[in-house]
Amino acid sequence: MKTLLKNGTLVLPGRQVGRGDLLIADGRIAAVGTDVPSDGASPVDCTDKLVMPGLVNCHGHTAMTLVRGLGGGLPLQRWLEEAIFPVEAKMTPEDIAAGMTWGAMEMMAGGTTCVADMYDFPQAGAEALSAAGMKGNLNRVGLAFADNVPPGRLDECVAFVRDLKVERIVADLCIHSEYLTNETFCRDLAAANRELKRPVHLHVSETEKEHAECLARHGKTPIAYLADLGLFDYGAYAAHCVWCTDDDFRIMAERGVTLAHNPTSNMKLGSGFARVPRAMELGVNVALGTDGCASNDNLDLFEEMHVASLIQKGLARDPTKLSAWDVIEMATVNGAKALGRSDTGEIAVGKCADLCVVDLQRPHLVPCLDVANLIVNSMHASDVEMTLVDGEIVYEKGQFLKLDAGRAEFDFRCAVRHLGL
Ligand SMILES: [Zn+2]
Repeated sequence: MKTLLKNGTLVLPGRQVGRGDLLIADGRIAAVGTDVPSDGASPVDCTDKLVMPGLVNCHGHTAMTLVRGLGGGLPLQRWLEEAIFPVEAKMTPEDIAAGMTWGAMEMMAGGTTCVADMYDFPQAGAEALSAAGMKGNLNRVGLAFADNVPPGRLDECVAFVRDLKVERIVADLCIHSEYLTNETFCRDLAAANRELKRPVHLHVSETEKEHAECLARHGKTPIAYLADLGLFDYGAYAAHCVWCTDDDFRIMAERGVTLAHNPTSNMKLGSGFARVPRAMELGVNVALGTDGCASNDNLDLFEEMHVASLIQKGLARDPTKLSAWDVIEMATVNGAKALGRSDTGEIAVGKCADLCVVDLQRPHLVPCLDVANLIVNSMHASDVEMTLVDGEIVYEKGQFLKLDAGRAEFDFRCAVRHLGL
């Protein structure tokens, strides 16, 4: 199966923009350039279209589409305990699958091709995400309450990595956070990982309180504490990192811990602002995530790019902070790197054809004087016309090509009703 995207504006590695053709063969990018021979490929006219790498959502709880906007306005701890946890306790694998499919539709329609997801019933989630056509890194969430680990949880985390065989889905390890784990669990997980060698997905230093309580408990920041327990020996992607210190950033750079930045969620929950430019200066890989739909309240990475760009400029009172290209790389290649997916996130020969195509003729996208600036400051998820994963069109002009959208909506509405919402 071959496809030729003809005459598009291409977002290329090295912060370059090109004009030309992109040939896809067997799910990979086979050629990029001007007047690429069609070689029997079906052509797609991309005149006045932008062809860019599919976006990588580096931190999400996709099935929280089911609780979109729930508990809005509450402070984080009350939001979790009063609004979110009681509903999550009722969720079944069927609910998770329906919420995941619905979230995958929202993401694919907005140009996202891969998500790092942390939620319950990951097998059901993985199957739903894959069936929709997306890529994802999923995990069994590692949890421990003080001295109490849910029975069998460590084995479940390890077994999920060992046994998962779902197309386009990779299994990683996970702890929820420093405050929902304990030393024994972390040491055991790190020991098991000497064989598995997977990165760990986690939340870190989201709130000032959580960061300060860890310092009081262990005399170390969450990053330093978890690093010392061996949790980052094979890398990690850490959501939030709002209260991380310079020393934390140095540890993250040294251990290959990506900062998964979630600016909308951090602002909505009043947590603060991650010091992204400083983290980058100290060599940390920074990626972008939406977090869950109850703290965002959408899965729109174009909006996330815009917010990420604006807040650093406003905070520093310096328009040179965090360039448009910095932000685009956060939402693409940096996320791919965090998830151990070196074969995606860029338009280059040999990489997976994970792409999105944007209509550049919308009124708010004309004129296209500076492509990077346009992507970050003017583009919306709804401007995406087509999304491809492994060269397969999974979304085109309102249609989801691997899904029955009517059935997905029915299942989703049933799940919302089942949760009593
Ligand atoms: Zn989260």
